[in-house]
Amino acid sequence: MLDVSDLHVSYGNVEAVRGIGMTVRPGRVTLVLGANGAGKTTTLKAVAGLERPHAGKVTLDGTDITGLAPHKIVRRGIALVPEGRRVFSPLTVGENLRMGGYTADRSKATETLDRVNEMFPILAERAGSAAGLLSGGEQQMLAFGRALMSQPSIMLLDEPSMGLAPAVVDSILAKVRQMADSGIGILMVEQNAEAGLDVADDVVAVARGEVVFSGPAAEARDNTSVLRAFLGEAALAGTDD
Ligand code: ATP
Repeated sequence: MLDVSDLHVSYGNVEAVRGIGMTVRPGRVTLVLGANGAGKTTTLKAVAGLERPHAGKVTLDGTDITGLAPHKIVRRGIALVPEGRRVFSPLTVGENLRMGGYTADRSKATETLDRVNEMFPILAERAGSAAGLLSGGEQQMLAFGRALMSQPSIMLLDEPSMGLAPAVVDSILAKVRQMADSGIGILMVEQNAEAGLDVADDVVAVARGEVVFSGPAAEARDNTSVLRAFLGEAALAGTDD
């Protein structure tokens, strides 16, 4: 289980994350909603070791991992799938996947690759193709597969549906659900709130670096704070609240 508590992260004298806390449990999807600039990406980066929090704590199964170097955090079982997928375009699909397994237990590499190929058959079919030739949806699957190669217990997904056609979004989010159902705990930032809520178990809504709602996905849909956090004040114009 991943536990983030009272996290504070600043860029210079701008505090982007101001006391955010959240929990990610095995087999569950925690969805992070919030308007642009709310501090969602910064939170994921701080968990992954890419930004150093100046206060607060990140624990994995009770062990404090706050401020560890990114490669150490990957070795502990937390994999970040960054916004924009960032696959290595000139490398083949197979090479991208092998790079994802670089830090993992080598004795399990073949078994892990088999599982990734089973979950994403397109990656097996396109193993010898340059990653840059894949469609956006396929590249997102490759980014998931590459992260899975590190044998994570927790995955951090930053905007997996970004730039994808609606039909593709549904299949990508179905894969997110499938990864969670395999036992992985997922922390997902997603601008497509409707589609994200369909696969989420828990929701954390953030605004201006603070948590404004935390609870089950079923309760998030109609919650005013969630609407406000996600869409801004304009979302509430015309509502009675
Ligand atoms: P978005 O959906 O737009 O990515 P977000 O909720 O992920 O939004 P963050 O990217 O975490 O928000 O940004 C939070 C705040 O920190 C914003 O005000 C942003 O301008 C600022 N910020 C983010 N990255 C940096 C950086 N590298 N240097 C300075 N300020 C930054």
